[in-house]
Amino acid sequence: MEKIWAERALLPDGWAEHVCVTIEAGRIARVEPGAAPQGRRVALLLPALANLHSHAFQRAMAGLSEGRGPEPRDTFWTWRQIMYRFLDHLTPDDVESIAALVQMEMLEAGYATNVEFHYLHHGPGGRPYANPAEMAGRIAAAAARTGIGLTLLPVHYQFGGVDRRPLAPGQDRFGTTPGDFARLVEASDAALRDLPADATLGIAPHSLRAVSPEGLADCVALRPDRPLHMHLAEQVPEVEEIRAAYGRRPVEWLLDNHAPDRRWTLIHLTHMTEDETRRLAATGAVAGLCPITESSLGDGIFNGTIWAGAGGRYGFGSDSNIRISLTEELRTLEYSQRLRDRARAVLAVAGRSTGRVIYDAGLDGGATAAGRDTGAIQPGLWADLAVVDLDNPVMAGRRGDQMLDSLIFAGQDGLVRDVWSAGRHVVTEGRHLDRDRIIADYLATIARLQDRM
Ligand SMILES: [Zn+2]
Repeated sequence: MEKIWAERALLPDGWAEHVCVTIEAGRIARVEPGAAPQGRRVALLLPALANLHSHAFQRAMAGLSEGRGPEPRDTFWTWRQIMYRFLDHLTPDDVESIAALVQMEMLEAGYATNVEFHYLHHGPGGRPYANPAEMAGRIAAAAARTGIGLTLLPVHYQFGGVDRRPLAPGQDRFGTTPGDFARLVEASDAALRDLPADATLGIAPHSLRAVSPEGLADCVALRPDRPLHMHLAEQVPEVEEIRAAYGRRPVEWLLDNHAPDRRWTLIHLTHMTEDETRRLAATGAVAGLCPITESSLGDGIFNGTIWAGAGGRYGFGSDSNIRISLTEELRTLEYSQRLRDRARAVLAVAGRSTGRVIYDAGLDGGATAAGRDTGAIQPGLWADLAVVDLDNPVMAGRRGDQMLDSLIFAGQDGLVRDVWSAGRHVVTEGRHLDRDRIIADYLATIARLQDRM
C-alpha cells in the first residue's frame, strides 16, 4: 500500500486540494480530498494519459528522413521507403532495446501506457521466427523492464495494396494470412503472460490498404471484447485508392459496412468530408490523433473543431515516435486548428479551457483505446498517475485549468516529476529508475546497427 498526498489534483468532478490517494495492488483504493498531509507529498497530481498509437522501432530512425530524395517531392510515401529499408536490418534484440528506450521516454513525458501497434513480425525476407510472437515478446520484455502499462496490438497485414497485390520487398516482414494472424494473436497473448495484470491485448487490422474486407471482418470477429485499431484516411492517395476500388471513401465505406463504436480506434482520420466527420464522431469511435507525426509526415490537418463539436472522442499517440513529447503532442493539435482557422482557443468550451479540454479528451480516448481501467483519479482504476512540478516559473500563480494550459502551452515535459503506471513508481525526479542502463543498451544497439547497415 502507498499513500500520495497532493497539494492539488484533477479529480473526475474537477480540481481539488490536499488530496490523499491510496494505492493498493496497483489500483487506486481511496481518494480523499481535504486530507491531512501523509505519505509521499507531491505538488500537482494528474491522471496519466495512455499513448494510444506507437510503432516502437521507428524511434531509432528519427532524424534519418529529413533530406531530399530523388523524387520531385518528398512525402509520406518516400518516407515509407526509408522506413522499410531501415527496418530490414532490425533483429529481435534491437527491437527490444529500442522499445525500452521509447517506453522510458514515454514514461518520463508523463504517459503511463504504451498502446503498441505492432506489425514487424518476421525475420528479414519474411522468414518466420520459430515463435510467431518472437517480436511481440520483445515489446513485452521491454515493458517488463520499463514498467510501462502495455496494450499490445498484433497487426494483420495481408496485401501490398487494395488491389490485393503481393507485399513489396520492404513489407515482407509484416505479412499475415488469416490463419497466421489467429496464431499470432494466440502467441501474443502468451507473450503477455509474464507481465503484470494490467497488460492487455487488442486487435489491429493495419488499414484498408493492407487488409481485405474479409480480413477486416475476421479481425472484428476474433476478440469481440477487445479494442480494435486501424489506420484510416491518413493520406489523399489512400482515399483515392479506396474510392477507386470500393466506390466509397474510406470513412464512408467503414460506416456503410461496419458499425464502429467505442471499441474502434481509427488512427489519423486526417482526410474526412464534413459529413463523414459528423457521422463517425456520433458513433463513439475514438480518433487516434498523432499530431507530431502527422506534421512530420505532412499528412494534413484533422477536422478537430467539427469532430469535437459533434461530440467526437479522441486521444493522442506518438506513432512514428520521431519525438516523444506529451505537451507538444497536445498543443500541436490545437495549434494546427488555429493556423487553419486563424482563431484562438478553438477547442476550448464554456467552463473548460483549451488545455483542460484536450487533456480530458486524451484521458478518455486513451483509456478507451487502450482497453484499460484508467483515465481518472478514481477508486477501482489502475493507479496511472503523473506529478507536475508547481515550483517551476511557468506554473507560478496558476490555478485550476490554467495549470494545464501553462503545462501544455508554456511548459515542457520536464515539469513531469513522478509517474506511476498501475502503481509502479517508475519515474522519480523526472528520471526513469533504469534510465542509465536503458540508454547504454540503446547506444550499443545503434552502434551495432550502424555496422550492419
Ligand atoms: Zn501508425
